[in-house]
This record gives sequence, structure tokens and C-alpha cells, in this order.
Amino acid sequence: MNMSLISEVDRLSGQQSELCYHCHKCTAGCPVVSAMTYGPDHILRMVALGQDEAIYASKDIWLCAGCYTCATRCPNDIDISAVMDALRQLALAGGHKAAEPDVLLFHKLFVGVIKRLGRSHEAASLGLFKVFSKQPLLNDMGAGAGLFMRGKIPILPESIHPVGKSIKR
Ligand code: SF4
Ligand code: SF4
Repeated sequence: MNMSLISEVDRLSGQQSELCYHCHKCTAGCPVVSAMTYGPDHILRMVALGQDEAIYASKDIWLCAGCYTCATRCPNDIDISAVMDALRQLALAGGHKAAEPDVLLFHKLFVGVIKRLGRSHEAASLGLFKVFSKQPLLNDMGAGAGLFMRGKIPILPESIHPVGKSIKR
């Protein structure tokens, strides 16, 4: 057990996870809980108990979509997405492999596109993800085609020039 885990998580997340009284409102509203092993409020309990190895080995911290549903439902104003983010940081800092490596890969590629262009570009992020994850390029074209036809996904990226420099007024 790692009894300093809760203080590390609170410091990194800016939350007071010890306020959780396990009413399950967060877990009841979490859209990805069916894919998780534990669920959000159980993860908070594991944080309080210092069960860091079990947390880092689970998929839950990588499956959290950061949707803030839990934060809006929590009577104690605990933002579990921030807690999940802190746990991902601690897992990687401790040399643990991501239990869902594709999630980490997509995150790195998404941030890489933003660093390059100054803004996100869905087609570039998805294309790079398909290549690096070795997934078939066209296996979910249906959803993408619908968004493209509605003008939601531009094919060519636009960059903010010059990236990283402040705008002159
Ligand atoms: S909604 Fe808040 S208090 Fe209730 S279990 Fe979830 S984190 Fe804990
Ligand atoms: S932020 Fe994460 S844990 Fe909270 S409801 Fe959304 S997916 Fe679930």
C-alpha cells in the first residue's frame, strides 16, 4: 500500500478526494463504467487505501473520457476526471505501461498535431492513429463520412502562424 497516494493525487488534481462518501452518483452517471473494472467511486476508494499498483494495472484510468459527468453529479464537488488525470500522470511517471496503450497513443498524436498546427485537426489525428496503431484505415469510415458531408471534418489542416509566437496587436 502507498499511504502517500491520496496526498499526491490531491496535490496533482487540485481535488479533495477524501471528501468522497461513496454515494455512487458519479458511477451511476459515468458513460463508460460498463467497460471499466472498478468504476469512478471505487477508484477513489482505492486511492484512499493506497492501492496504487492495482489502479495502475487497471484500464479504468485510461478509459475515463474526461466528460465531467461525475463532477456535475458529485454532491462534494469532486472532479474525478482530474483525479483520473493525476493517476495517469503518476502511472507514467512510475514507469507503468498504460493498460490501454491505444488511448495513450491517441493522446500523444492528438497533442502532437496541436503542437505542429497550433490547433486540433481530427482527420490528421485519426489518420496518424490508424497508421501507428496498425488498424485498418477504412474500418470506421461510415461515421467519418457523415461528419465530412456535414462539413464537420475539414480534410486539409489549417495552422496558426507562426505557431508558438504571440499575435501582434
Ligand atoms: S458522487 Fe462524489 S461523493 Fe458520491 S461517490 Fe462519487 S465522488 Fe464520491
Ligand atoms: S469524467 Fe471519466 S469517470 Fe467521470 S463520468 Fe466521465 S468518463 Fe466517467
